[in-house]
Amino acid sequence: MHLYLHIPFCRQACHYCDFHFSTNISNKGRVVEAIAREMVLRKSYLPKADIETIYFGGGTPSMLSEQELEMLLDTIRRHFKVNSDAEITLEANPDDLDKNKLIQLQKAGINRLSIGIQSFHGPHLQFLNRVHSAEEAQQCVRMAQDAGISNISIDLIYAIPSETHEILQSDIQNAFALNVSHISAYCLTIEPQTAFGSWLKKKKIKPIDEEFAAQQFEILTRSLAENGYEQYEISNFAKSGQYSSHNSSYWKQRPYLGVGPSAHSYDGKSRQYNISNNAKYLQAIAEEIIPATIEQLSAADQTNEYLLTGLRTKWGVDRAKLQTLSLGTFQAAHQKELAAMIEKGWLVDQDGTLLLTQNGKLFADRIASDLFID
Ligand code: SF4
Repeated sequence: MHLYLHIPFCRQACHYCDFHFSTNISNKGRVVEAIAREMVLRKSYLPKADIETIYFGGGTPSMLSEQELEMLLDTIRRHFKVNSDAEITLEANPDDLDKNKLIQLQKAGINRLSIGIQSFHGPHLQFLNRVHSAEEAQQCVRMAQDAGISNISIDLIYAIPSETHEILQSDIQNAFALNVSHISAYCLTIEPQTAFGSWLKKKKIKPIDEEFAAQQFEILTRSLAENGYEQYEISNFAKSGQYSSHNSSYWKQRPYLGVGPSAHSYDGKSRQYNISNNAKYLQAIAEEIIPATIEQLSAADQTNEYLLTGLRTKWGVDRAKLQTLSLGTFQAAHQKELAAMIEKGWLVDQDGTLLLTQNGKLFADRIASDLFID
């Protein structure tokens, strides 16, 4: 089983971000206590099974104090059985990480860090409204490695307005110099409820140029492959098989419990979405109510989710499983489309497993949605 904890606080709002967080940290301690309480209330959400991965996401979990992190981990260990080799990831921003903090994280049991670097180019960091500098980002990765946390992932964003291929190449070289085990690289998307979304509406910035973004994706995937990073999911690259076990569990439709404001959970048949409001979350948990919306997944939902996430991975989607999930309707509904996509060189069928080609990866979401069932 897999456990996700959403820590909904950030120092400042990045201009592209539409995750749930608050920059008002006056009730951080109370929200952290409520997250611990929610875990206890929901410990039977999934059938009894050992915890294989724990993921502190957000928001900015590196804003947790030593006591808050220890209290959460202690609650997990008291109420769940955690595998001795469990992957325990904490998302961190470079400005929160100094030598002492890193030693503290390592001692608490964090064995994987996902560091939100985004870019090593100063003007881009300012444009994105990141708190840290490129130098801080480089220093904190080296300090984390010195503190004994060797499993480090960094996030990068490409196709930023004013990006050039030279800047991207320099970002990639900077990432290689840090010798991290994992890189997540995302194309900038402009979401309506963000600063960028409002600037786009006011024509202060231009929309992302799709052709330029495709060229950047091509540069990125080629450079990373040449340097030993395997693209095991469209936006995720790992050295020597050091995949994110936690994120892989989402892509493989494994059940997980998510706690905290805005966290999602999945039990194989339904999804639950916690309320994205810290005050309402606190109030509900104080009354021992889980403030979640429940969505029962139909056969079509399960088939379409499998297509959407599975096709993006190196494991692809299994045609027999598609038939089962769709109650026997997938094959008849999409025989022609599948043949056309294979003919175009977007998909290959490898012994009953559908896999995207490198060309197909450019249209992954469109290919998946064209194969959706009603
Ligand atoms: S990108 Fe991360 S640090 Fe920035 S606002 Fe979003 S959650 Fe917070």
